[in-house]
Amino acid sequence: MIRRAMFLVYYTMAVLLGGMMFPQVAGAAGALDPIALLSEYIEVDTVNPPGNEANAVAFYARYLKAAGIDYEVGESAPGRSNIWARLEGGDQAGLMLLQHTDVVPADERYWSTPPFEARVEAGYLFGRGAIDMKGTGIAQFLAFLALAQSEEPLQRDVVFMATADEEAGGFFGLDWVIKNRPSAFEGVGFVLNEGGSGSLRDDEKVFAIEVTQKVPVWFRLSAEGVPGHGSYPRPTAAVTTLITALASLNHQPFPIRVIPAVDRYFKGLGASIEGPEGRDFMDLASAVQRPEFVEALHEKHPALHALLRDTCSITMLKGSDKINVVPPIAEAEVDCRMLPDRPSGAFIQDFKDRLGGADVDVELIMAFSPAISDAESKLVRSIQSTLRQRHPRARFTFSVASGFTDSHFTRDLGIESYGFSPMLFRDGEASGVHGNNEAVHIERYRKAVADYQSVVEAFVLRSQ
Ligand SMILES: [Zn+2]
Repeated sequence: MIRRAMFLVYYTMAVLLGGMMFPQVAGAAGALDPIALLSEYIEVDTVNPPGNEANAVAFYARYLKAAGIDYEVGESAPGRSNIWARLEGGDQAGLMLLQHTDVVPADERYWSTPPFEARVEAGYLFGRGAIDMKGTGIAQFLAFLALAQSEEPLQRDVVFMATADEEAGGFFGLDWVIKNRPSAFEGVGFVLNEGGSGSLRDDEKVFAIEVTQKVPVWFRLSAEGVPGHGSYPRPTAAVTTLITALASLNHQPFPIRVIPAVDRYFKGLGASIEGPEGRDFMDLASAVQRPEFVEALHEKHPALHALLRDTCSITMLKGSDKINVVPPIAEAEVDCRMLPDRPSGAFIQDFKDRLGGADVDVELIMAFSPAISDAESKLVRSIQSTLRQRHPRARFTFSVASGFTDSHFTRDLGIESYGFSPMLFRDGEASGVHGNNEAVHIERYRKAVADYQSVVEAFVLRSQ
């Protein structure tokens, strides 16, 4: 909650003391400069593992304090903490701006700039997290600060929430906050998180809002057998039993199933693609009848192909650690992702049926529950109408993510959760996410920050 009168006092002080308190922020007249702030945040070490997200919490806490905004911090483990703050408004369902503060590692040998330094080059700001998701995080934070600074009443509460550990599953982050500080979610009906973004091709702008994602269901398979010397194989051994099961799984891909959310996503993509591929995307149900379409899609766009069926990747294998020793046990871990249109129990049964009756133990490591957020909600309509005013010729689509974000945690709470960012990327620009040379285009980023602020204001200010 903010004490509004105090806000201006603190904020003015902060600006007056700017040289000391905000050494890298060179914004004019009380406004923090988005590029300076993002640059500072990129250089806050939150590489996961190990995370050290307390550094990000200290970063946000410093600015919240300067702005006179009360906040809470929840420490899930030493060095791993989460921070949130609430602006109180009217009784409409609250809006949470959700971000994760951790970033994945980066190998500087493959970068053209030092990945953990914010560097400006050729109109781009480079640094790990520039896109995923420190860039969106700063856009959210500036929108939140602007609301706090505004004298206008809010028709709903707005919660700023920055959590740890998303890149490793969120167990020290959002999952921990939900389990240990449930009051942070009180009255929240909507979440804006990472996962959606805009694309720019020639002059065509398309904004995609992510409404659902593939659901991870992770298994450990193990087989036992009589151990012995590698020189005299028995008819069966732990390793051979295991690979028989894995081969059976591998040879029986899950059938193609076009669910409505995926159909809508492909239609949105198809509208921007000329020629036969565009036509196929617009009529996915017919296209998937042709094996050559499915094969070509798999080859060219594996992440899109993954939206057409449940999938399993065999990722970890463990047998003997000596070449001439037959081990008593062999293990594999399998990363399956199911479409979000049925309970995970049904998928688990399908998975077991595919193991061909091999004598393996199946242990469920993790399964999230499937959920799809409402593409017609008040928030979605508000986002679209705000962006339509600011980008009159833009198109809007809904996307389905092949990977997962923290949104499944809030969808589980019954909160309509959306992957949304108005950042516009040209083809290839987003490839730095978890990869090399992650960067945002500076001018487009500034516009995205302004768009984000307008989107949030339109949804929460009473006057709008
Ligand atoms: Zn992310």
